[in-house]
Amino acid sequence: MIEEEKKGFKSAFLDQLGQKTMVMDGAMGTMLQQYGLKAGECPEMFNIINPDAVKEIHTSYLEAGTDIILTNTFGANGLKLQKYGLRDRLSEINIKSVELAEAAIEDFQKINIVPLFVAGSIGPTGEILEPYGTVKKEEVLKAYREQVNALASTEVDFILLETFYNLDEIKIALKAVKENSDLPVFASMSFDESLRTIYGITPEKTIEVLFQEGADGVGANCGSGPDVLYKVVAKMRGITDAPLLVKPNAGIPYLENNKEVYPATPQEMAEYTEKYIQLGINIIGGCCGTTPEHIRAIVQKVKKTP
Ligand SMILES: [Zn+2]
Repeated sequence: MIEEEKKGFKSAFLDQLGQKTMVMDGAMGTMLQQYGLKAGECPEMFNIINPDAVKEIHTSYLEAGTDIILTNTFGANGLKLQKYGLRDRLSEINIKSVELAEAAIEDFQKINIVPLFVAGSIGPTGEILEPYGTVKKEEVLKAYREQVNALASTEVDFILLETFYNLDEIKIALKAVKENSDLPVFASMSFDESLRTIYGITPEKTIEVLFQEGADGVGANCGSGPDVLYKVVAKMRGITDAPLLVKPNAGIPYLENNKEVYPATPQEMAEYTEKYIQLGINIIGGCCGTTPEHIRAIVQKVKKTP
């Protein structure tokens, strides 16, 4: 793509962001389990071995009315794929994920003329970084650089760094995006009832550091459900007018007959959606345990709320 087109492409997402509340899709992992993903299996390898399942999940979220779909690349960084012995397939897995998202959009847009965007999902390495652990920051940077290079070679509209707990790690991922692409980037951390991440990071610190490091938007995702994240993003909004994202999980899951059950219903998500809109949250979506039904409820509330 030539440079001018790239700039136009970039602003299409950022322009839309300034105009309306955008909805992002719901869980990928939870949905993949319904397509046979087993515990201990690499979810991102589904892009290669079961692409139809991934595309169908994207389509079900598009039909629910989402504006943005997230690629199936949450764990497709160098260090996580290495654990599965799949690091040599990193580029293939990441590039294929965007192709699947784009293919779902292309089919959907044959009958629905609406602007739709693809966000490249990047999650934590799952490693404990120095000084708490032994994994070196340079190794982490390299692992993210590989993933960003692969995603940046596609037509992805922006990057979402999500579900981070460690401020040092998300800063490294953000640096990898800034240094290896000119894609817009949102950076989101995961908070629990203490309104901090498990590394003790507050919403205020998150805002201060991640905007300083060049994020286009900051957010809160996963964590402990819509109510906790409401309190988190309210604190964030209290100190910034910049773009914010919220993507709660459907509450904390409990086990019932050996199955994980997420307590937050689509109705509950819709109620919180109204509160998020009142705070001026720019992107609202769902994390673990949310389904197309949750997203449909969010979309309906966004449409009804001026
Ligand atoms: Zn989640």
